[in-house]
Amino acid sequence: MAKIYTIVNQKGGVGKTTTSINLGAKLGEFGLRVLIVDLDPQANATASLGVERHRLNAGTYELIIGTGKASEIILHHPRYKISLIPSTVNLSGAEIELIDLPDREKRLQRVLDPLRENYDYIIIDCPPSLGLLTLNGLIAARDGVIIPVQCEYLALEGLGQLTQTLQRIRQNLFPELTIRGVLLTMFDGRTNLSADVRAEVQKFFPNLVFEAYIPRSVRLAEAPSFGMPISVYAPESSGAKAYDAIARELLLGDGFEIDLEK
Ligand code: ATP
Ligand code: MG
Repeated sequence: MAKIYTIVNQKGGVGKTTTSINLGAKLGEFGLRVLIVDLDPQANATASLGVERHRLNAGTYELIIGTGKASEIILHHPRYKISLIPSTVNLSGAEIELIDLPDREKRLQRVLDPLRENYDYIIIDCPPSLGLLTLNGLIAARDGVIIPVQCEYLALEGLGQLTQTLQRIRQNLFPELTIRGVLLTMFDGRTNLSADVRAEVQKFFPNLVFEAYIPRSVRLAEAPSFGMPISVYAPESSGAKAYDAIARELLLGDGFEIDLEK
């Protein structure tokens, strides 16, 4: 049964997509069966994996609206050892179209649950909002959410609102919703600010901050324009090593006993 993790933070540009694709690709390299779900109309995850969305007929939108079948929509990316449910332009309209549909918050969950037996990990990349698409992402997060937090001034801003949203979902829609972990991103070891942010985030989320953190790395920012995960684009870079470390930490916590020596 696949673990389903949703990468969420309504703040923009904190590293959600970078984490989705690079963590996903790394888990794929470790031999796990990985499905990445692009739930963002910006389609950054889709593009970052080198998939040209204007060539696609269907994606996440068709799945959650109910006009497409998963078996026909999922793309297999043999080179990066992952599968992808891509985001197409139609997804931009979903936020409004979902409002009138029955079970509008649970549609992604319904689509992904039956796919769990085919994968070890399903990773959902959310847009920077707390709208209906993100709500669908949260309610599909069977094994918890992963919250990237950028190590910058005002890093904690919005996290109260996010935890309140999680709490409301637990009360009304999905009592089992948990936080799997908080990931510090764009950490700059030369600044006190990054260390301060880390201390503050640890105080805000006791015992939930991953030990591994993602440094600020130019290579990580470059890789998407080549349509490659960092492990392929620059395997020796600090960013690649960081996503390797976080993948191992996740696997260890999830009880996967695979050979991670390589
Ligand atoms: P959005 O909210 O728009 O979906 P996001 O949270 O998905 O954004 P990303 O797209 O992953 O954030 O990252 C924002 C920008 O920062 C991108 O240009 C990305 O390449 C860059 N970036 C992400 N992580 C790092 C890092 N560790 N070091 C340097 N640049 C990074
Ligand atoms: Mg993104």
